[in-house]
Amino acid sequence: MPAQSKPYSSLYDTIVVGAGIQGSFTAYHLAQRGRETLLLEQFPLPHSRGSSHGQSRIIRHAYPQEHYAQMMAESYRLWEQLEAEAGVSLYRQTGLLVLGANTNPEFQRCCRTLVKHDVPGELFTTESLHRRFPGIRPYHGEVGVSDHTAGVLSADRALWAVQDGFRRCGGALHDGEKVTDIKPGVVVTVTTSRGVYQAKSLVITAGPWANKLLAPLGLLLPFQTLRIKVCYWKEKVPGAYGVSANFPCFLALCAPHHIYGLPSNEYPGLVKICYHSGRLADPEERDRPAEASALPDIQILQDFISKYLPGLVPEPAVVEHCMYTNTPDEDFVLDRHPKFRNIIIGAGFSGHGFKLAPVVGKLLCQLSVGEEPSYAMEPFRIHRFPALPAPAL
Ligand SMILES: Cc1cc2nc3c(=O)[nH]c(=O)nc-3n(C[C@H](O)[C@H](O)[C@H](O)COP(=O)(O)OP(=O)(O)OC[C@H]3O[C@@H](n4cnc5c(N)ncnc54)[C@H](O)[C@@H]3O)c2cc1C
Repeated sequence: MPAQSKPYSSLYDTIVVGAGIQGSFTAYHLAQRGRETLLLEQFPLPHSRGSSHGQSRIIRHAYPQEHYAQMMAESYRLWEQLEAEAGVSLYRQTGLLVLGANTNPEFQRCCRTLVKHDVPGELFTTESLHRRFPGIRPYHGEVGVSDHTAGVLSADRALWAVQDGFRRCGGALHDGEKVTDIKPGVVVTVTTSRGVYQAKSLVITAGPWANKLLAPLGLLLPFQTLRIKVCYWKEKVPGAYGVSANFPCFLALCAPHHIYGLPSNEYPGLVKICYHSGRLADPEERDRPAEASALPDIQILQDFISKYLPGLVPEPAVVEHCMYTNTPDEDFVLDRHPKFRNIIIGAGFSGHGFKLAPVVGKLLCQLSVGEEPSYAMEPFRIHRFPALPAPAL
């Protein structure tokens, strides 16, 4: 049975489409302000077809881009507030190590934002890095910078907590109910697989499905939807790369795409290490077998692990899947529809949006109620993309 916390209402203040982490936080902020809000999700919850499922996500201040680094203080505060409200622990501090050549511009930008935002951490030379973290071999003479505030968010639990918070504020969450049509207007009409609803504003947070809802509204954004392999690797000595051995999260600034890892925790004896890219895939066909020419991501990870993490077996023990929705510059889209101003879009989170979801949700809420957003929105505007051919309306 779909979860319904209150009876259907004919006119909502806002309808939010998509109950991933971004839509759920948007709905939560709206309901906290007393807005009558309906959150619609196509699949019965919980599900693992989008981008927000799984046990863990990295949270960190260490960002090369200032516009994300400056949102992190508030994001940490809002995560803490949610933990207190829900009475659950969502964050585990492990620290994070950024690894790279000391001449790497991205590495240098991470160091600068950490200093600018007064984030406690340390710089490591190649030698001190290996001494402090004997499980890491800096194969090409990499150096490191640590962010002591970083850690792991419990993703599934966080999603549940924010949806529960939304319901407790009086919000209506209908899962197993797919949006099939959107009619723009001063009042937006939304048709689903089970009914018709109206609202003064609409927020589309549909993850990798975003363009499927936007195309009929005359907008196609330059998103690439990617299938990501979530790989877990076995420790040769159980616990050697674990949270209790103080092994941190890490982000290796490899070209062309980064590799990141989290200490063993959710699956005892297994360390999560992923390649920050994947093969193009429609979300409806995520599990179609890959062609022979598919991205050699596992091979890239095996090579990395053999060189840098000699205490792990370089064969994945578990492989799961998840979706990225990437923009060309990997910045988010948080903006109004260029023509229908009461339709707000939150999408293109490019594989790094979870940690920022509390702030993203607040910004999407501010846009939908007509408030001045709390941060400069220029990096997130749709007009940064060159004009795209508009689909016929
Ligand atoms: C492997 C992996 C690792 C990651 N690691 C990190 C990390 O360490 N740190 C970090 O900050 N971020 C990380 N991310 C990114 C982060 O998880 C995503 O940015 C975030 O989950 C995106 O959430 P979303 O709500 O936009 O999308 P989704 O979770 O996909 O939610 C969209 C929802 O919309 C629903 N929907 C779509 N169409 C319709 C419709 N027509 N009607 C009703 N509902 C609809 C979908 O079913 C879905 O539930 C990672 C992502 C992946 C895949």
